[in-house]
Amino acid sequence: MAVLDNQNFKKFYINGEWVAPAIPNDFDVINPATETAVAQISLGSAADIEKAVKAARNAFISYSQTSLAARTELLQNLIIEYNKRYDEIAEAMMIELGVPITASKEVQAETGVGMVQSVIEDMQKLQPKLRETLPSGDMVWREPIGVCGLITPWNWPINQIVMKAIPALAAGCTMILKPSEITPLSAVIYTEIIHAAGFPAGVFNLVNGDGPTVGAAMSRHPQIDMMSFTGSSRGGIAVLKDSADTVKKVTLELGGNSANIVFADADIKTRVPASVHECFFNSGQSCDAPVRLLVEESIYDEVVALAKQTGEAVLLGDPTQEGDFLGPLVSAVQHQKVGHYIQSGIDEGAKLLCGGVGMPENINRGYYIRPTIFADVTENMVIYKEEIFGPVLTITPFKTEADAIRMANDTDYGLAGYIQTSDMERAKRVAAQLRAGGIHLNGGGYNYSSPFGGYKQSGIGREGGIWGIEDYMEIKTLHGFSE
Ligand code: NAD
Repeated sequence: MAVLDNQNFKKFYINGEWVAPAIPNDFDVINPATETAVAQISLGSAADIEKAVKAARNAFISYSQTSLAARTELLQNLIIEYNKRYDEIAEAMMIELGVPITASKEVQAETGVGMVQSVIEDMQKLQPKLRETLPSGDMVWREPIGVCGLITPWNWPINQIVMKAIPALAAGCTMILKPSEITPLSAVIYTEIIHAAGFPAGVFNLVNGDGPTVGAAMSRHPQIDMMSFTGSSRGGIAVLKDSADTVKKVTLELGGNSANIVFADADIKTRVPASVHECFFNSGQSCDAPVRLLVEESIYDEVVALAKQTGEAVLLGDPTQEGDFLGPLVSAVQHQKVGHYIQSGIDEGAKLLCGGVGMPENINRGYYIRPTIFADVTENMVIYKEEIFGPVLTITPFKTEADAIRMANDTDYGLAGYIQTSDMERAKRVAAQLRAGGIHLNGGGYNYSSPFGGYKQSGIGREGGIWGIEDYMEIKTLHGFSE
């Protein structure tokens, strides 16, 4: 496959050039649908980060002073170059993540266009705030924060990169990206696209590697001004601690365990099947998936029946084929972890409506998991309390609106909340009490240009929209100046 014939997979992109790692350290990239190694990358070391930081530091001197118009032109070039290799990016994610090709093209790869367009528009909105004069006469300037370390996960490979790199580039920052070592192929291709778009040498650098080695070297580096991390809580806490000694700004996008509250007045015939599909999308590997279905008691049996019927009809398939179905989980590790959660649900006495442990029918290889729904899940069960990160939905009844709000909030996470009701007053009342960064009513989806991020242990900061750009800026106050 052409996408795999890439001479740069084992190299890093530093100061505008593809270079060999300081110390060779080969690492296999596995196709989760076939369980076979399809490519090799190099895992980097602190020495590679040292070189990349030097390049980014140097490039910051001139790139930070470029005009918004110049940076906008580069981002417009980026869209043109990205579209030339759009199918290749989609294929790379299919191979490394196992996402079916249709979803990879229509949803995952599309973020590389939609997000960039929205950042270009949002920079224009932000422009008046870049140079402000206060009533006192003092002036306030917003400036790029400096050299940024970007660490991304495997579940939405291109989306996670563009959510960080594009606002940082727009703001005038320079950066080092360390993508997930599990899905590095699309990141290498994306870096070639950045090069083709004409960004000056050193502005964007790519070093592959694992978290504890390369990630930690970035977080601890005194010449990196800000870390932006998306991934597990464990990883986020490590970045926060490693960044403490150099007092870096840290933004985090971590996990979730989001509730989906279904009130009796909801359009359940439409919204229950849709909620099952929303939970299972990307094989359940989305941090803001609606994984805990909380259902008003009076409609509980009807909702359980609808969910079972929907879950039983969900198809699995070969990611290389076009169509609407689920692919495998990303890795053997995730496969084992999600399998354990399903077994724990069975052991703790939840009612298995569909799915379960073991290989799905007619599939004999790949990290496939059976789309699983549990009913009668209680608040003390592990599958209710922990983030599973697979195609597993839990259903729990509630009595009153107050109960539903309490149950939805009863988690350390606070990324998203979902409400199904036809009563707008109630929807707003409930939304105001949910401790989560994004609330979705009756299927309302995320739009570029809106902020995305979490309350509580789901993170710090926001990506998307002007908020996502402002996170990459410092504020300078000028006293005694005049316009
Ligand atoms: P992970 O934390 O293991 O890995 C994410 C990234 O962090 C990878 O690039 C990894 O190499 C790096 N990393 C790991 N340990 C590190 C360390 N000590 N220092 C620096 N970097 C380190 O997570 P994952 O398995 O790739 O992703 C799954 C998790 O990510 C889930 O919990 C999910 O909810 C969360 N996630 C959150 C969001 C969000 O936007 N909130 C998006 C995607 C995934």
